[in-house]
Amino acid sequence: MKHLLGLESLDREEILSLLKKGKEYREWLDEVYEKRRQPLPHLKGRRICLLFYEPSTRTRHSFEIAGRLLEADVTSFSLAVSSVQKGESFKDTLLTLESMGFDLFVIRHSYSGACFYASNILRRASVVNAGDGMHEHPTQTLLDLLTIYRARNKVEGLRIAIVGDILHSRVARSAIFALNKLNWNIHICAPPTLLPKDVEKFNVKVFHRLEEAIKDVDVIYMLRIQRERQKEQFFPSLEEYSRLYRLTSQHLSLAPGAMVMHPGPVNRGVEMEGTVVDGGESFILDQVRNGVAIRMAILHSILGEEKR
Ligand code: ASP
Repeated sequence: MKHLLGLESLDREEILSLLKKGKEYREWLDEVYEKRRQPLPHLKGRRICLLFYEPSTRTRHSFEIAGRLLEADVTSFSLAVSSVQKGESFKDTLLTLESMGFDLFVIRHSYSGACFYASNILRRASVVNAGDGMHEHPTQTLLDLLTIYRARNKVEGLRIAIVGDILHSRVARSAIFALNKLNWNIHICAPPTLLPKDVEKFNVKVFHRLEEAIKDVDVIYMLRIQRERQKEQFFPSLEEYSRLYRLTSQHLSLAPGAMVMHPGPVNRGVEMEGTVVDGGESFILDQVRNGVAIRMAILHSILGEEKR
């Protein structure tokens, strides 16, 4: 693998092989945290640049930790104090940083397609998509699948309800691409204004009522309202959205044993009640730890197997 730009272009076997590697890294990671084991030298001497043009907590830090646990040199590019503020273009920033010797760029950008563009501009270095606009967030879906794989011991042919701002969600798009390859039964649930116009292309079943969408599913996957991407009013008020689409503890009896997941950041009380966020069915913090493991697997797959 030279780049990871999205899951639309990965096949079932490639996804399963990353999950298998991620699972091994997760087991190793648990031992590191418990027994303070030493990092692995697999990426010693490789240089990784985290190039984030949008805010991030989980994705950025987990890539940083993943790289360091493999002994790579990880540098975080600081947008606020960079020449981007002086008008430098994305292209020139990429070429400048590549000349300094970076082997891989982890890129988050508000433009859909920014990572694909970067992979064409860069002469040698690899690109990993850490979220590009409303397009894809492949590493999020891979960590979500790893979470399900570990909890259910299988990752194919299950049922999921993805609820919330589907229209603006790169997480939902990556999930739908991957879950279709793994033969899932996919319910999506949102007010009509928060669904893509071409939703029928995605091979999903559409619901507008939360109670119907989550009935008997294996995974309830809640999304945040992406207000930073909304240029118009998509629903009358946040209170009204919440009244209809917020996941509460009463809802959980409709899907006994279902895993409750969210990519973060959660807006407590908006898309989920705080007691559900912290409850026994919530896998949110497990998702976060799996984020480190799957990113180790991804970095290793790209940089560890490349000819030096
Ligand atoms: N963290 C995810 C993303 O970057 C989800 C979100 O922000 O709501 O897309």
